[in-house]
Amino acid sequence: MHSKHLIDLFKTFYRQCGLCYHSVSNISDLDDQYLHNVSVDKFKKQITTIPKIWGDLSLNFNLIKPFITFDDGYKSLLQTAVPILKKHKIPAFFFINSKTLNGDILWRDKIRLLYNHNLENEFLEELRKNMTLCANFSLYKDSKSPHISSKSVESELNQFIYRKGIGHKNDLYMNKDDLKELAEVKFFHLGNHTKSHYFLSSLSYEEQLTEIESGFQDLVDLDLPISKVFAAPFGNYDSVNEDTFKILRSNSYEVLLLTNGRQNLKLDVRKSAGKIKVYNRYLPK
Ligand SMILES: [Zn+2]
Repeated sequence: MHSKHLIDLFKTFYRQCGLCYHSVSNISDLDDQYLHNVSVDKFKKQITTIPKIWGDLSLNFNLIKPFITFDDGYKSLLQTAVPILKKHKIPAFFFINSKTLNGDILWRDKIRLLYNHNLENEFLEELRKNMTLCANFSLYKDSKSPHISSKSVESELNQFIYRKGIGHKNDLYMNKDDLKELAEVKFFHLGNHTKSHYFLSSLSYEEQLTEIESGFQDLVDLDLPISKVFAAPFGNYDSVNEDTFKILRSNSYEVLLLTNGRQNLKLDVRKSAGKIKVYNRYLPK
């Protein structure tokens, strides 16, 4: 999305627009075609074209102005997006997967790892032994589904990667000191993006509960202030279900963020949400 398009967007949806960034970088973090990345120049244009347009979602959690969010906690943001946000005093939310805090890579990174080693077909053959997959199953695209347990896929990935000896820790994501630094900026906020970035609706109620509650608790245990805004991993409409809403309600979350672009919410999502405010976000390009 170019800045001109963003401006057009604001004219239409001025009060109803959140943006969801992942990586902001000139050299894509993983040199990876799958990673959602916006170049630093574009990012700067997108957020500084209209001065003072950006609202702070943490204020009553009401969408009075468009707001900016970052999912997955990429460390490179500290060198790219964060200085720009600070300079212009633009409020932003950062949604973190607690599993990444000590250098663990997420299951999506593990899938990318297989692609980088050309091992995806060999892994798929293994996966077919334990799971029913359609004939032209695409590991990257079709594994994000309510019908394929992310947790089971990750467990298979772990065994495969261990056998192949290609596992590694990395510093792709922010660590606890990075997050502490962010939390000191009064217009920055931290939020829970679950522990492991699973496709929540593919999990049982208990598994979802663990993902959401331990994701939150891990961050709180580091003495970090964590908001009651929750960003669902992947954020498609089918990435959450009734169980998700039940768990969010019982944990007093006030806002659920999805990533379906348009603000108009599907009726069944509105019904399930009850008192929880659900907002969609755009992924700028
Ligand atoms: Zn995410």
